[in-house]
Amino acid sequence: MNVLVINCGSSSLKYQLIDMKNEEVLAKGLVERIGIEGSRIKHTATGKDQVIIEDTIQDHRRGLELVLNALVDKEYGVIDSLEDIEAVGHRVVHGGEEFSDSVIIDDKVMEAIEACVELAPLHNPPNIIGIEACKELMPNVPMVAVFDTAFHQTIPAENYIYPLPYEYYEKYGIRKYGFHGTSHKYVTLKAAEMLGKSVEELNIITCHLGNGSSVCAIKGGKSVDTSMGFTPLEGLAMGTRCGDIDPAIIPFIMEKENLSFQEVNNLLNKKSGVLGISGLSSDFRDLEDAATNGDERAELALKVFCNRVKEYIGAYSAVLCNVDALVFTAGIGENSSTIREKICEGLECINIRLDIELNKVRGKEAIVSSEDSQVKVLVIPTNEELMIARDTVNLVRK
Ligand code: ADP
Repeated sequence: MNVLVINCGSSSLKYQLIDMKNEEVLAKGLVERIGIEGSRIKHTATGKDQVIIEDTIQDHRRGLELVLNALVDKEYGVIDSLEDIEAVGHRVVHGGEEFSDSVIIDDKVMEAIEACVELAPLHNPPNIIGIEACKELMPNVPMVAVFDTAFHQTIPAENYIYPLPYEYYEKYGIRKYGFHGTSHKYVTLKAAEMLGKSVEELNIITCHLGNGSSVCAIKGGKSVDTSMGFTPLEGLAMGTRCGDIDPAIIPFIMEKENLSFQEVNNLLNKKSGVLGISGLSSDFRDLEDAATNGDERAELALKVFCNRVKEYIGAYSAVLCNVDALVFTAGIGENSSTIREKICEGLECINIRLDIELNKVRGKEAIVSSEDSQVKVLVIPTNEELMIARDTVNLVRK
């Protein structure tokens, strides 16, 4: 079965066509600058060079139309006709409390996704637009929604309720939801496979460290706590997001700097994190280079980032009691041996021992802890698209 995986952002659309017989990616690509001048598609058929298709792409529907054309193109296509796409899996950011698993998309599901727009005003609307465009262009193909929040619906109330008046949870659904669920789930299953155990018998802490970052505590395959919250702003210090700060800082800055709600929201989401501290970049490669060349604020930003991750690992060790594995994934987690080393420094006290030599690995699956480390430390490249495609196949086959 060929599954098309779609991930729609506000001005972008990422796609992968996966042959699920052997989980092989046939083609993948990115539609960029939708609705903006200079829109284009970067399309790669596996084993061939990337092609860039430049065109006016006024909306997601047009973008998707061009993607489908690319997939059946004589030169750089990978299938004979659109009938070879048997199902579509959509990434949907927010499923609220409605969805604790992936679902086949029908009218009722669409209504529920719409109802979550209030909780994710930047993310759910483009996801909905992507689903609508697929429905129009491929009306008879079954579609599945896979939610970033679903994996975290097993978090118990004592970990998801904020110490605020309870009525705000009831009235507005203010609680911890957590994000990156598809990634945390994928690496959890992969870690169990690598350790030769069933997921039910493992306690795992997963660190998804990318542009957005989150840590998750997983007991027997179920998420019991995670660092992101009501929105993806909570938790770790990230590329441009502040993560946990004293909430009293917000009204203080608003008053001092005379900032509106929009402006302060922008400040906390786009101008903070390691970018805010360093004043230089949100990209960890830039920061590592600058720190090596003696830039003290870049070094400080990296230290703050690593300390936060370390604190969450400590907290989740207490939540889980016995930790079997610590997993690093996503752009930074998969690629930066120095960040992994800094995070694990001093964690011998909770039985985490990194092997400095084994840790010199980039972008591939590896066990990087020392022989005597009670907690196994793993590097696992995440694969959210494959997780979405697997859920899609499982539901469509039912
Ligand atoms: P997203 O959250 O957008 O999916 P990624 O998981 O791709 O992000 O992570 C992107 C981040 O990964 C970049 O900001 C960059 O800082 C970091 N990164 C990628 N490669 C490396 C590397 N070799 N060393 C350090 N950081 C890296």
